Amino acid sequence: MAKVLTSRSENYSQWYNDLVMKADLAENSAVRGCMIIKPYGYAIWENMQKELDKMFKDTGHQNAYFPLLIPKSFLSKEADHVEGFAKECAVVTHYRLKNDPNGRGVVVDPNAQLEEELIIRPTSETIIWNTYRNWIQSYRDLPILCNQWANVMRWEMRTRLFLRTAEFLWQEGHTAHATKEEALQETEQMINVYGDFAENFMAVPVLKGHKTESERFAGALDTYCIEALMQDGKALQAGTSHFLGQNFAKAFDVKFANKEGKEDYVWATSWGVSTRLMGALIMAHSDDNGLVLPPKLAPIQVVIVPIYRKAEELEKIAAKLDPIVAKLKTMGISVKFDDSDNRKPGWKFAEYELKGVPVRLAIGNRDLENGTIELARRDKLTKETLPIEGIEEVIEKLLEEIQANIFQKALDFRAEKTTKVDSYDEFKELLETKTGFFLAHWDGTAETEEQIKNETKATIRCIPFDAEEEEGVCMVTGKPSKRRVVFAKAY
Ligand code: AMP
Repeated sequence: MAKVLTSRSENYSQWYNDLVMKADLAENSAVRGCMIIKPYGYAIWENMQKELDKMFKDTGHQNAYFPLLIPKSFLSKEADHVEGFAKECAVVTHYRLKNDPNGRGVVVDPNAQLEEELIIRPTSETIIWNTYRNWIQSYRDLPILCNQWANVMRWEMRTRLFLRTAEFLWQEGHTAHATKEEALQETEQMINVYGDFAENFMAVPVLKGHKTESERFAGALDTYCIEALMQDGKALQAGTSHFLGQNFAKAFDVKFANKEGKEDYVWATSWGVSTRLMGALIMAHSDDNGLVLPPKLAPIQVVIVPIYRKAEELEKIAAKLDPIVAKLKTMGISVKFDDSDNRKPGWKFAEYELKGVPVRLAIGNRDLENGTIELARRDKLTKETLPIEGIEEVIEKLLEEIQANIFQKALDFRAEKTTKVDSYDEFKELLETKTGFFLAHWDGTAETEEQIKNETKATIRCIPFDAEEEEGVCMVTGKPSKRRVVFAKAY
């Protein structure tokens, strides 16, 4: 069968676009930078949401919902925040259209101008902290641990399906605390939740660490992140958790009476992951044949393709398979018995391979006679013929094995693509031919960081939490450095 995808080695970014479209995940829309997430793509996102939502609730959070539109004046209240987001804001100025006097459709009614313009939320700290002012009076009202699932809008100039879009879906957690320590603990807890999700569900290994000052969220005192490595050796920031200090409480005058009866400003965190995770999932595992999905997030974990000519043959196969399908379902395995007669088995095989279904079973007349079934695994593209008897348990174990194998493969890839570098000349030379994570010493200044970025396009992805203390010198300035940071070219 002819390949439907451009290969990764030929053109990685074309491969990615082909795959997103051909696997029915998403497509571009009539609106620049805004995508349409198709049902199969949305089903994967829903699985991500379900697991994350459970993890948030298990750590004591509740969901709430705040408005899409934010009064423009709110944004200006926190100086760094407005500076960071102003350039990407879409603004609502009018509330009515009228017939065009020149007969060309409708135009904005100039008499319907809003007194105060509204911005479409790029993130919700401002409207939420304006609300928290009314919710918090004393330490007894704390902590507040809210999350919202929503869409946001950032007028991004260079967009790419899932990875960077103007409108994207995400969750944003916004918490309020009585003490700095508690807020810091929360910031750390949530980056750990993201790391756990990325590794144990998405099967994507991530580095956890601090962002540098220049890469921090606008208005945060510290930003923690998870960084993943894609198969082209570029890094992707996959999630962030921010320690906001008392910045938003001060901007919105959110004070509380502490246990000693003294007034203090409330401490804040915020944290988010977006539909960018879909991009990470696709780019980390998939191959030239299509998607490779970790079983824990695959909308269909097992597909069964019957091979038959006549209706009676299908009936016999179905009679044998029905109890197996039922048992798999009771085991919590999502299974599709594809007996549609408008497509040939060969087409179905290619289609489910493209869509990354982890396990495919095929069964025909001869298998029925022999009591066997053909089992193919997507991650390794291998096939074997097995007894039907006990196939459910085999599948259950295999799904776990596939999940682990995909993770291990990504982990090995990252290890292979991680290089220690000690001189700037070597760094520049390596970047000509090599991709991946580079561990190097840096003097801690924004100037050096900027210079490296301008000269090599590589940025500091994070200062890892677990970076070993190691006396060294900055590869550019020769000034002392206590630990290596992680550089990479990134999405
Ligand atoms: P931030 O609020 O900037 O820390 O971003 C929160 C999360 O949203 C991060 O995990 C980012 O990776 C993700 N994100 C930021 N901008 C975009 C975008 N334009 N499209 C998709 N995801 C994004």
